[in-house]
Amino acid sequence: MAIAPVKVGLLGFGNVGSALLELLGAGEDDVARRTGVPLQVTRVAVRSLDAERAARLAAYRPTTDPQEVVDDPEVEVVVELIGGVEPARSLVLGALKAGKPVVTANKELLATAGAELFEVAASAGLDLLYEAAVAGAVPLIRPLRESLAGERVTRVMGIVNGTTNYILTRMSEAGASYEDALREAQDLGFAERDPTADVEGLDASAKAAILASIAFGRDVVADDVYHEGITRIRQNDIAFANRLGYEVKLLAVAERVGDIDSDDSEAGIAVRVHPAMVPRTHPLASVREAFNAVFVEGDAVGELMFYGRGAGGRPTAGAVLGDLIDAAHNLRGGTGGRTVVHKRARIRPIEELRCQYYINLDVVDRPGVLAAVASVFGENEVSIRSMEQVGLGEEAHLVFVTHTAREGAVQATLHGLGALDAVERIGGLLRVIGPE
Ligand code: NAP
Repeated sequence: MAIAPVKVGLLGFGNVGSALLELLGAGEDDVARRTGVPLQVTRVAVRSLDAERAARLAAYRPTTDPQEVVDDPEVEVVVELIGGVEPARSLVLGALKAGKPVVTANKELLATAGAELFEVAASAGLDLLYEAAVAGAVPLIRPLRESLAGERVTRVMGIVNGTTNYILTRMSEAGASYEDALREAQDLGFAERDPTADVEGLDASAKAAILASIAFGRDVVADDVYHEGITRIRQNDIAFANRLGYEVKLLAVAERVGDIDSDDSEAGIAVRVHPAMVPRTHPLASVREAFNAVFVEGDAVGELMFYGRGAGGRPTAGAVLGDLIDAAHNLRGGTGGRTVVHKRARIRPIEELRCQYYINLDVVDRPGVLAAVASVFGENEVSIRSMEQVGLGEEAHLVFVTHTAREGAVQATLHGLGALDAVERIGGLLRVIGPE
């Protein structure tokens, strides 16, 4: 017996929404044939509807009131591709409360209000799927949630922001300055006109929170994530890292610290976003341009890497479509969703991080400067592994690589260095990945 098409309400017809409709339009029969469940978009909501657009979307009964789509009795599954926290949060809640499964690509929403939404979805036995919210087209959420459900994941570390990876790649390979690389990324459509969310690490923080939540089964929100962006990195930081055999990457890292299921108050989850020096021998070092990759380490599986396009309307829509098919299957099969609610994570402070550090200081070129700088390191018990003076006079700067040190001690060192007359500017600060 033929299965009745699952009626889909689409909120948003931007980069991803329009690509989703295109994928469905091009291969509706194909999707039905391969998956056994026909999908039919019956409503679309947008913010503005001029005559031309209204005509183009006429087959989908377009509206500028997204609530109308959520409330439409014909709509069985809601796809939220509006972005941002509100009204997306209220719309998703409304859909779930009305018994409709939801598919979203909205990392900001999940990293802010995920706990509330998952709770409602779980108690109603509904799907709330979000494969596209982290690393766009790269299948990552489902493998972590399903294939690795029994795995004790110890660390997730990845490049989850294509814009910053593109900028850093151009700085490394073409010797471009940060400003030129950013402009090029904007001209090519890899960066927004206002790039703040990307270059300050906010977008990566939301994704890090989502990844940490799934990997460790605890609720982690964007505000839990310590973050630094790439705006302070200069060409000479990149050149120095390259010379030592490293690439500079903006990493999102989530780590299990101790036994998080115990009462040990020292145990928890450490989660952060910052630029780092990655040894060229590490697989993440070879991830170039706007690509994303996430490296997962677990007790039984060892090391895994997921790689692909992290953004773009069509690749992202492909991931949304996969979720939509899943939700439609569950709906027709009467199996319901498998949404799990996590308890709140205990977050470990950044001050506990231990690694090597690269520090670049602009200093005045006069006798005694090196001794003054070195004594600040010494007072804070941060041991210097190597030091180099680059340039002379106005251009003089000192580049340090430390032995493994505690973040708290390095921050105190930076504070002390900032107070020295001889230090004109604290430039790049990079955590160094890997053993000494
Ligand atoms: P977009 O191009 O800005 O599209 C947003 C759409 O939502 C537009 O059609 C807009 O209508 C509509 N909209 C906004 N506010 C609305 C409201 N109050 N009521 C009704 N409609 C409203 O965004 P996008 O790039 O497609 O991204 C959609 C989601 O996917 C976001 O959560 C984003 O983070 C996520 N995502 C995107 C990518 C990517 O590569 N683009 C990758 C991964 C995840 P108008 O067209 O009338 O303005």
